[in-house]
Amino acid sequence: QVRTEFEDSHVDTVCPYCGVGCQTRVYKKGEEVLYVDGRDGPANENRLCVKGRFGFDYIHHPDRLTVPLIRREDAPKDAKMELDRVSMWKVFRKATWEEALEKAASGLKKVHERDGGNAIAGFGSAKCSNEEAYLFQKLIRQGFDTNNVDHCTRLCHASSVAALMEGLNSGAVSAPFTAAEDAEVIIVIGARPAENHPVAATYLKQAAKAGKELIIMDPRGQSSGLGRHATRILQFKPGTDVALLNGMLHTIVEENLYDVQYVQANTEGFEELKEHVKAFPPEKMQEVCNIPAETIREVARVYAKSTASIIFWGMGISQHVHGTDNSRCLISLALTTGQIGRPGTGLHPLRGQNNVQGASDAGLIPMVYADYKSVEDPEVRGMYEDFWGKELNPKKGLTVVEIMNAIEADEIKAMYVMGENPAMSDPDQNHARAALAHLEHLVVQDIFLTETAYHADVVLPASAHAEKWGTYTNTNRQVQMGRPVVKMPGEARQDWEITRDIGKAVGLDWTYQHPREIFNEMAHVMPSLKNITWERVDQEDSVTYPCEGPNVPGSEIIFTQSFPTTSGRAKMTPASVTPPAELPDRDYPLILTTGRLLEHWHTGAMTRRSDNLDMIEPEAIVCLNRWDMKRMGIDAGDKVRVSTRRGSIELYVRQDRDVPEGMVFIPFCFAEAAANFLTNPQLDPMGKIPEFKFCAAKIEPVQEL
Ligand code: SF4
Repeated sequence: QVRTEFEDSHVDTVCPYCGVGCQTRVYKKGEEVLYVDGRDGPANENRLCVKGRFGFDYIHHPDRLTVPLIRREDAPKDAKMELDRVSMWKVFRKATWEEALEKAASGLKKVHERDGGNAIAGFGSAKCSNEEAYLFQKLIRQGFDTNNVDHCTRLCHASSVAALMEGLNSGAVSAPFTAAEDAEVIIVIGARPAENHPVAATYLKQAAKAGKELIIMDPRGQSSGLGRHATRILQFKPGTDVALLNGMLHTIVEENLYDVQYVQANTEGFEELKEHVKAFPPEKMQEVCNIPAETIREVARVYAKSTASIIFWGMGISQHVHGTDNSRCLISLALTTGQIGRPGTGLHPLRGQNNVQGASDAGLIPMVYADYKSVEDPEVRGMYEDFWGKELNPKKGLTVVEIMNAIEADEIKAMYVMGENPAMSDPDQNHARAALAHLEHLVVQDIFLTETAYHADVVLPASAHAEKWGTYTNTNRQVQMGRPVVKMPGEARQDWEITRDIGKAVGLDWTYQHPREIFNEMAHVMPSLKNITWERVDQEDSVTYPCEGPNVPGSEIIFTQSFPTTSGRAKMTPASVTPPAELPDRDYPLILTTGRLLEHWHTGAMTRRSDNLDMIEPEAIVCLNRWDMKRMGIDAGDKVRVSTRRGSIELYVRQDRDVPEGMVFIPFCFAEAAANFLTNPQLDPMGKIPEFKFCAAKIEPVQEL
C-alpha cells in the first residue's frame, strides 16, 4: 500500500529520538527515505513532532561512516583535534573488517591480560536497542571481568532512579504520561516537554484544555511552550528545589492534608519526614526560592486535595548535586498524599533518549545487572555466573564521570564506546577530551566520526536506527518494535553483530544470529519481561511491562496494591538543602544552565546532520535576559564569550524572556561552541550525575572582524 506516486513502499517502526516513543510509518523509494508519518501508537496516536517527522535525513548524510578505520601510526592523539571529511584521512586509514575487529579486540585483550578487567571500561548507548544494550553490558562483564559499564542515563535521570529505587525499589514511571487526561492536577517541574518531549506535551495541553490544573515549576519561564496552557507558573530561584518542595510538604503536614490511611497502610518513614519538614515553613522558604509563601501553600493544597494528582519531572530536577534529594521530595509528596497507584496519579520522570528506559532495564549500569539486580548480591551474581559460565566481578563499577577521572589517574587504560559521544556530553570537556586522548586503546562504534571518534584507535561503522531490528522501551514502559527501513551504507554493520564479533574475538562462545535470540535471553533473566516475547512485540507493536499474562495488555499503572519492596511499603526519605556546588561570585557573577532545543537532539550528531532541522537552528546561541543584555551593552545577534572556571566558548546572543536575570542558557548540541566545556563535573553523591543545571559564569563581548 503506497500513499503517493513517489514512494514504492513503507515500513512501520518507531521514532529514533526521544523517550516518548512515537510509532512511525516511514515511506521510501528504493533505499531512500522520503517522508515519515505518525501511526496510532499508544504514546502518540498519530502525532509526531518536528524531529520525528522531518529529522530523518541524517540517515543518508555523506558523513556516514561506511568503512572501518584504523588510526595511522604517526597520527598524534590530540585532545583538541577536530577533523573534517578531508583531514580525517591524515589520521585514519581504511581497514578491512577482519583487521579492524582484530585490532579492536587485541587492544582490549592486551590491557585486560596485563592490568586486569578494571583497567577497561565501556560506554553503551540509550540510542541502541534493548538487545544491543544487553549484549554490550554482557561483553564488558563476561568478557572483561569488570562492571565499568555505563551510558547516558548517568547524565540524565540517574539521580531520579537512585531516589526511586531507594523509596519504591523500582526505577520506572508509575503511570504513563497519557494518565494526565485522568488527572485533576498536573505538576510539571524541571521539565520542558514542549521542547524535549513534544508529543507528550500535547497530552498535557489537552488535559489543561479540558479544565485540569496544570502547574509548572521551572527557574526558566515557559512563555512560548507549555506555559501558555498552565494555570500557574512558579518561576523559582535556580537550585532551590528542595526548599520549595519541602515548603509544600510542610504545608501538607501542618494543615493535615496528608492521607492518614494511605500513609499508615503503604509507607515507612513518615514520622521522620514530618519532623524534618517542620523546619521548612513556606513563610521562611519564600525568601530562599523567591515564591510567595501563599503560593507555595496554595499549590500544596491543590495537589494534596485533588482526587488525582500526577507529577512529571525532567533534568531540571535530576542534573544537580542535590538531584537525588529533589526526587526524594517529589516521591514524598506523592506518598504523603496517596497520589500514586490510581488512575490520574503518579510519578513520571520523563525519559530523555528513545531507549534510556530499556538500556537501563537491560543492565547498562555499573551497579546492577538487568532489572536493577545488584552486582554485589551474591545470589544474583551466582545466577549470572551459572548462566554465563564465568566468574564475575563482585564490585560495582565506575560511572561515566568517574571513568573519565580514572583514565586521568591511569587506572583505566582502554575503552569501548558504542554510540555515545562523551567528547560532547560529559561535563568539563577540556578534562574529558584530555582523558579520551590519554587512553592507550579506544574503540568507537558509531554511525558518524563523532567528536569522541576523533580520539579513537579503531572506528567501527555501525547501523542507524532505521537500518535494524530491535526493541526499544519508552518512558511509559512500552516495549516497541523497531524495524529496518533501508540498507546500511557501504560496509557498515549492525551494532549487535559488531559487539558479538568483538566478544568472539576475545574468546567468548557467542553464536547469536539475530536480535531475537538476544531478546529471548533477556526474557530469561528479566522478570520484567514476563509474558512479553519478541513475536508478541512484533505482532502487537507495543507491549507494556509488567504484563500479567500472554494475552492481556500490560499494566499501565503500577503500585496499585503495594510496592515491590521487602515490606510492600514505600519509604520516604527526608531531604535537606544542599546548595549548588559552585555559586556565582564577583569573578563569575552569572548562573549558567544548559539544556536542549526543540530541533536538536543531545550532542547534535544526528540533528546537526539533518538539513531539515539544522536549517531552523543552524548556529550556536546563548540565551540571555533583556535586562542583562542592556546592562552589558549587548544586542541580539552579537557574539559573546561565555566563560567559567573550566573554559570559554564564543556564541551568538539570543534575547530570551524565559531566562531570568542573572542566568545564561546554552543548548549543548553545538560542537563549534560546546557548552560542556563550561559545565561543572561535581556529582550528586548518590546518583553520580553532574551538575549540568548550575555553575558560575561570566560574559564578555567579542569584537568580530
Ligand atoms: Fe520522536 Fe519524541 Fe518527537 Fe515523538 S515526541 S516524534 S518520539 S522526538
